[in-house]
Amino acid sequence: MSTTYRLGVLEGDGIGPEIVPSAVEIATAAARAAGVSVDWVTLPLGAAAIESHGTPLPEETKEALAGLDGWYLGPHDSVGYPEPHNSALNPSGSLRKHFQLFANIRPAKSFPGAKAVCDGADLVIVRENTEGFYADRNTFAGTGEFMPTPDTAIMMGIVTRAATERVARVAFELARSRRKKLTIVHKANVLKLTTGLFRTVCQEVAQEYPDVVVDDFHIDAMTVHLVRRAQDFDVIVTENMFGDILSDLAGEISGSLGTAPSINASATTAMAQASHGSAPDIAGRNLANPVAMILSGAMLFEWLGARHGDAALTATAAVIQRAVADTIAAGVSTRDLGGTASTTEFTTAVSKAVHDGAGQG
Ligand code: ATP
Repeated sequence: MSTTYRLGVLEGDGIGPEIVPSAVEIATAAARAAGVSVDWVTLPLGAAAIESHGTPLPEETKEALAGLDGWYLGPHDSVGYPEPHNSALNPSGSLRKHFQLFANIRPAKSFPGAKAVCDGADLVIVRENTEGFYADRNTFAGTGEFMPTPDTAIMMGIVTRAATERVARVAFELARSRRKKLTIVHKANVLKLTTGLFRTVCQEVAQEYPDVVVDDFHIDAMTVHLVRRAQDFDVIVTENMFGDILSDLAGEISGSLGTAPSINASATTAMAQASHGSAPDIAGRNLANPVAMILSGAMLFEWLGARHGDAALTATAAVIQRAVADTIAAGVSTRDLGGTASTTEFTTAVSKAVHDGAGQG
């Protein structure tokens, strides 16, 4: 008997209520085509949850997520929340911290038929998600930022051997399943102790993977290398803030930030989340590109397939990925990719590609 997988749906803010339903629609069609049974569980999060529950991340949402196989998280516009929510750790940071989703895996791949600064990019950034220079999430209590006087602000950066080792292993395993190249990104010439430790630990883990070719760059130099020759990179591992910035750059030069997917994973659960933010400038106008959210969902199905040893889940991911690629190759895309399709028109086209693909077997 086949298992029913239970997945959470948290729409979030800005373009979230446009791109998350689009991604769920495509995943539902693909799962049906691949013979996977999914129960979708909608949960409150973001500005709507402030209205309904008095907090952007209600306890009941966290409790429900703990019982699910994984979930889709839409972007949030936490800078727009009223105080005190504006000063608190934002919903995705809270979820990453609460569920110890330590590996943020962010691929950047150009699509044939879509405009891109760099054609032929096919790389994955593995970003450490629980410490580093995002001070808001690297303390047990409080946010790791201090303001002793109105004119002085201090932040705390943390790098630990344990957190670096576990994310490095994820990155090396991924490299081993791809082109067997791994790049460590750091700033060990200036931040010698913190990012120096990050580099050292990654190099130690490298000893267990003699089949993977390793190099390393300073974060500033790496931005230049990415723009010049993104196609030369395979897997990149780096700390939290460097990874956040570098993955926006990688997403944009390989097409659009609107196509850059990601998952946040622990050893036991995973959260699909587009790399981009809530794009308030285009929210509510049916202009958003849902590709990043749709492909984040595919990554979640792939991750679940590996975790549960269920080939039908992996097949669901492949159906989603192929339908998106076929749609873009056929010349249908949203404005950010140079096309004219609205969010809903693009979603309908991908949905049709799922059905057409299923028809071809
Ligand atoms: P955050 O800090 O929450 O990640 P951000 O400040 O990086 O957010 P985004 O919300 O990601 O900013 O938006 C950056 C730019 O990219 C905006 O011009 C936005 O319209 C565009 N953008 C982001 N996501 C999409 C999308 N899915 N489709 C089209 N354009 C997008």
